[in-house]
Formats: sequence, C-alpha cells, structure tokens
Amino acid sequence: MSLTASSAPSEVSSEHVPVPRIIPRAEHGISRKNISNGALRVLYRLHESGYKAFLVGGAVRDLLLGGHPKDFDVATDATPEQTRTLFRNSRLIGRRFRLAHVVFGREIVEVATFRGIGEVGDSDRHVVDGRIVRDNVYGSIEEDAIRRDFTINALYYDIADFSVRDYVGGIEDLRQRRMHLIGDPAQRYREDPVRMLRAARLAAKLDFSLSAETEAPIAELAPLLADAAPARLFDESLKLFLAGHGLESLRRLHHLGLLGQLFPATAAALAGPHSARFGRLLGYTFTSTDERIRNDMPVAPAFLFAAMLWEPVRTMAEALEAGGTEAGVAWTVAVDKVLHQQASRVAIPKRFTIAMEEIWSLQSRFEQRQKKRVMRLLAHPRFRAAFDFLVLRSHEEPELKEQVAWWTHAQQLDAEHLAKQLAPAGVARAEGEPARKRKRSRRRKRSGGSAANETNVESGFE
Ligand code: ATP
Ligand code: MG
Repeated sequence: MSLTASSAPSEVSSEHVPVPRIIPRAEHGISRKNISNGALRVLYRLHESGYKAFLVGGAVRDLLLGGHPKDFDVATDATPEQTRTLFRNSRLIGRRFRLAHVVFGREIVEVATFRGIGEVGDSDRHVVDGRIVRDNVYGSIEEDAIRRDFTINALYYDIADFSVRDYVGGIEDLRQRRMHLIGDPAQRYREDPVRMLRAARLAAKLDFSLSAETEAPIAELAPLLADAAPARLFDESLKLFLAGHGLESLRRLHHLGLLGQLFPATAAALAGPHSARFGRLLGYTFTSTDERIRNDMPVAPAFLFAAMLWEPVRTMAEALEAGGTEAGVAWTVAVDKVLHQQASRVAIPKRFTIAMEEIWSLQSRFEQRQKKRVMRLLAHPRFRAAFDFLVLRSHEEPELKEQVAWWTHAQQLDAEHLAKQLAPAGVARAEGEPARKRKRSRRRKRSGGSAANETNVESGFE
C-alpha cells in the first residue's frame, strides 16, 4: 500500500454525517489490472447509467494490502431491481439482505444497494431481541459505511475517479494492522453474533490484531452464538477452517473463547486430560490442511471435522467401556452422541457426517491383515482419508507407526503381488518378521510418504 498522509483525516460533522477521507488515485496502490473483468464491467455499466458504483468490502481491503481478492462486491445507489434491468445476466437473491448477482461464466459479482439506517419497527428492517433478521432499508453511502462490520471492510473504491473513500478510519487501521468494529462493539455483536466469528477469521487470515474495545465484549457475548442458525455457522466454519488459514483461525477462536460455541466437545477435550495430545493432533491436521490448500490440492471438510471430534468420541467410548458397555456398542453410542450434540451448534451436512463416521470406523480395520479384509479396505471409497488420518494419529501414538508402514507398503504393490504376500481369509497374520518390517520402513521413507498429510507437521496447535 502506498499512501501519503496528505489527505484530511475522517471526522464526524455536526449532523453526524461522516466526512470521508478521500485517497486519490495516485496515492493508493489499487490497479484495475487486479480487479476482475466481471467486476469492472459491472462498475462501468452502473457508472455509465448514471448510478454511483464502488468496489467495497474485502476486495478493497485485500487490494490495498497487495493481495488478490477471490471475489468482488459492488455497492451502488441503484436498487436491486434497477441493477437487474441493467444486466441480463443477473438475478435477485436473498431475503435477509436482498442483492443482485451478476454472472459472468464462473464469476459472480455481488451488487448491493447502499444500506440505510432505518428505524426499528420499519417493515423492511426486522429486529428480534436486538438481532437483525431482515434488512432491506436503502440509504446513502455514509449510512452504508457505518452498517458494515470492521473499519477495514468499509473502504470504497470509486470507479468514477479511481479514488478510495474512507468514512470510518479503515485506512489507518489497515496501516496499523488492526481490526476495529464500527460503532459500539457490544451492540454490533448483539445485532449479529456471527461478527465475533468474523473477527476471529479475518484477524487470522490477515494476521491482524483486534483492538481492545473490539475484543473485550467477546468473552461475555460469545454465548449469543447459540442463537445463530446452525446452517450459517456451518458456512462460517468452512470459511474459518478451509480457506488456507485454518490453524490460525482455530487458535484465535480458542483464545477468544468462541471455539466452545461452535464445537463444544472439541473445546472440552482441549481442556481435558488428553489436551496436549489432542492439541498436537489438531496442529498436525490443520497444518497439513492449510498446506494442501496453499498447493491447490483438494481438501475434505469431513477429514477436518473427523479430527476435531476424534478425541471426544474416543473419550466417550472409553468411558462407556469402563462402565461395562461392550466395545463395539460403546463406539456406536459415542459416535451418535457426539454427532447429535454437534448438530445443535453447527449443522454439518449428512454427507459429511457419513464420511466422518467412516473415517473413524475404518481406524480399527487397519489392524486386520487377512487377505480379503485388506483387499476390501484398500478398495473402500474412504480408504485414502482414513489412512491419512491414521498417519496423523501415528505422530502421537507411536504404536500405530507399524500399521502406517504396513499399509504404505501394501498400497505400493499391485493387487497380484499383494495377494501373494497375504494370508488367506480367516488366518490372522502375525506382526511380520523383522527383516520384512525393515524393508517396509525403508520403502516408506523412499516413497516420500504417500499420505499427503504426512509432511511438515511440526507445529502443534497450542
Ligand atoms: P473475505 O475475504 O472472507 O471474503 P469479506 O470481508 O469480503 O472477507 P464477505 O463475507 O465477503 O467478507 O463480506 C463482504 C463485506 O460485507 C464485508 O467486507 C463487510 O463490509 C460486509 N459484511 C459482511 N458480513 C457482515 C456482517 N455480519 N455485518 C456487517 N457487515 C458485514
Ligand atoms: Mg468477500
């Protein structure tokens, strides 16, 4: 960001209309080269049609920080219906916030009309217990700015003259790498408790700090997240954990006391008797997931959630067993209970919980070496994820290393060779003679670790 301090600082006029600090084109680093074609087309068309048109939100923030935004949001004084008539390739969406989506192939540009302050009780602004549940009051750009969450998210790039407008001190906060909630933080969190999660997520993503006033109310208000829709919390969880900065998000959530609102069993296990072991498992898991995302490799949400709930399931199953429940039953009951409890907080879709159950249940099948079972396990659609999870567990449970070595070797053989080496069904195979074991270990090393999750897992979670 190349900014000079020549422009006037933002201030509030006597009518409480904020006066923007305007950073002219020559004094900031935003180049149209870094703005998507779709966003530019939307901005130009709105502008040519006589409307105001600004790039806003995360895109402006990330451009000023020198990043490459993945999506672009536009703010305008055109209503959604007016935007809809300007773009044939658009549709209106949303009930809580009505918006226009303009579609260019795979790119979607979100166009929002400036939000107004509106009065509580207004039919277009619906507030329940301090929470905004519907908000379609339109207003001025000044009003729009102060309705946004953090100052760094309330910067506007004006397509009319390529300047940046700052109504709330966002430029200074960007420079200081800190996040400030606009307005009275406690009231803003009450209006929308998910802003607490956004604070944790964006601070993690940008490596910013939270200002003291922004951080302080979170400890007390965290329980308000219990009222947020579990489906919205699932979307927010994906953004927290599967956007390339999952480990840092997890750390921030934990330290702000928010993890327990999303994943109560995970937070409890991190405070329980196996906290160190579990913290390291999460450290390995999140580090490898972040690394895969950086390398454009696919990641499975189920894998991450399976790791987060692994210790709770195991602890509960062990407790049930200790109370006399048969091992298999104890396991099934523990899985059901943990998933059921989790569903009331974050609505993990069924297809993911099914995958999580499979990843967990396959863990005990790695002990089995009978030919038929080995072949069946290798062919299982969830083998890869389950094996990767075994690898992560083996860092904390050295007794699993032999299994990792054995299955790494098994995957390298073609079916015919593998079948020859295995005992027929029903005959349990012994641990394997030492010479063979050594050979397997060497092979595993040479392979560079077939499990993608095996690399660079040095960092723990705490
Ligand atoms: P990301 O990099 O994750 O996309 P973002 O800041 O762009 O971050 P979005 O969810 O895309 O996040 O939201 C776009 C903009 O909408 C934000 O920058 C902010 O100005 C505004 N916004 C989003 N969520 C809220 C909220 N809960 N309360 C107030 N303003 C919000
Ligand atoms: Mg965004």
